[in-house]
Amino acid sequence: MGQSVEDRSSARESQAEDARDARVPSARHLEELAQRFDRQVRFAPFGREGQANLVSSRVLVVGCGALGGVLAQTFFRAGVGELVLVDRDVVELSNLPRQVLFDEHQARAGTPKALAARETLERSGGTGKVQAHVLHLDARNLALVAEDVDLVLDGTDNLETRYLLNDFCVERGIPWVYAGVVGSAGLVLPILPGRSACLACVFPAPPPDDALATCETAGVLLPAVGAVASFAAGLGLRILARPRDEFAPELIELDTWNGSVRRLGAPRDPACRACARRELVYLYRPGGEAIALCGRNTVQVPARGTPRALAALAARLPPAAREVRLHEAMLRFAFEDCRISVFPDGRALIEGTNDVTRARALAERTLGEPA
Ligand SMILES: [Zn+2]
Repeated sequence: MGQSVEDRSSARESQAEDARDARVPSARHLEELAQRFDRQVRFAPFGREGQANLVSSRVLVVGCGALGGVLAQTFFRAGVGELVLVDRDVVELSNLPRQVLFDEHQARAGTPKALAARETLERSGGTGKVQAHVLHLDARNLALVAEDVDLVLDGTDNLETRYLLNDFCVERGIPWVYAGVVGSAGLVLPILPGRSACLACVFPAPPPDDALATCETAGVLLPAVGAVASFAAGLGLRILARPRDEFAPELIELDTWNGSVRRLGAPRDPACRACARRELVYLYRPGGEAIALCGRNTVQVPARGTPRALAALAARLPPAAREVRLHEAMLRFAFEDCRISVFPDGRALIEGTNDVTRARALAERTLGEPA
């Protein structure tokens, strides 16, 4: 079929217009967005500028349990452009009283938390994208999952990971919000690298293990989780919405049993290991030890050698392995009195024991040595 030069050039123009139309939201879509986010845009300090900044932001939430669930839900519902979720664990019944993104069905299926969180958020129908990673964060994989993020939110349950996040964010100049909760109380500290105290300024070294109350020894209540996570989310939203605001972060202590809030200040330490001397030691730590997880009667056995395909592992399990199930991102089975979950990164969770030596032996008997 013959086409004149004019026809071809107008066809090209209309193709280019179509492509632009696909990128530029339609008037109807803009109207829908304006309706959806009307109440937060009406809050003047946030406003249209805050919404526009949030919609174009990428936020990493490390840990999708108690704190991470509230953090992820807040940012997703508020309209963040992209949420990156990381969690190493699976959903259990004992999570349900305080981990708001999970339901009983996910607990009975032992769904990995990152996938369960994504499923719940997507079901709620937001406007942003959600990326989920089932992995134990270490210095190697953090750089991959945190690529181009504008903010990091702490939903972890351990100090090792928090110091890793701190060193990473100090190195890259990424703002992050530390949050910790136990019992009825918790702490929040927003960190603006180069502008405010970092975690190592305020807590130069982790306290000895036995000096630290954990959710395992002291328990934890949902109101404390909600309050601490909401303070962290509120300050995180402000950092994204108004990046040029004059804002002097402080360490905040909340207690939902006494109803108290205390501002504890947070001076920068001019001799800080991390943000002053730039000794970012947590970026160079191998994460190779088997560890008992906080409050879980579960041991995590790290990957050894290169990760293997889960389907191949499933085919080679010993005959005594029962209830073998192969999920999207997990192989799970029962063995003796334990339940074993293996992830694509090669890591295994052994539920039903706190004994690290026995857990390691069970992993070896069922999964064998890496080829
Ligand atoms: Zn510092």
